[in-house]
Amino acid sequence: MVDLHEYIIEENIINEQKQFYESIKDLIQCLICKEIMIKPVRCKNCQSSFCRNCLENWVYQKNSCPIRCHDLDFQTDIVKSNLLSKLNFTCPECYKVVNYEQMEMHILSKCDTVEVKVKINNKDLNSDKLFKKVNRTSINYKKSLEQPAIKMRSNNKII
Ligand SMILES: [Zn+2]
Ligand SMILES: [Zn+2]
Ligand SMILES: [Zn+2]
Repeated sequence: MVDLHEYIIEENIINEQKQFYESIKDLIQCLICKEIMIKPVRCKNCQSSFCRNCLENWVYQKNSCPIRCHDLDFQTDIVKSNLLSKLNFTCPECYKVVNYEQMEMHILSKCDTVEVKVKINNKDLNSDKLFKKVNRTSINYKKSLEQPAIKMRSNNKII
């Protein structure tokens, strides 16, 4: 998958919004990766917010809130999501202005640049197709191996 952090970064925020960004910067920072949060989730107990991915990795490894709360009770951080949705970013690949929520979709399908298409093809589409092909080939291969074996046995029985 695409690492959205490569795109949702301070340097891609459009100039007109730099001041607004400065004023909300601390609120939208993930306490784990220290970058702009991607899909913010907050701890109901300590109210700290994190990227969904960062938090999932943390909880998976350490089984606690990163701020060391005892309860593991998290929910989507709607307030932070709303703040983030007000930010616009310049896509570093095609230089189009894309808002926070559109960025993932844009990278996956709407960005017109050759570089991104190639990148996405290499990472996702091609590897998916390759995977399916390998699967199909291996099934066919197995069948073609089995068939002669069965035929040989029945031949043996007849003889
Ligand atoms: Zn994070
Ligand atoms: Zn907590
Ligand atoms: Zn783009």
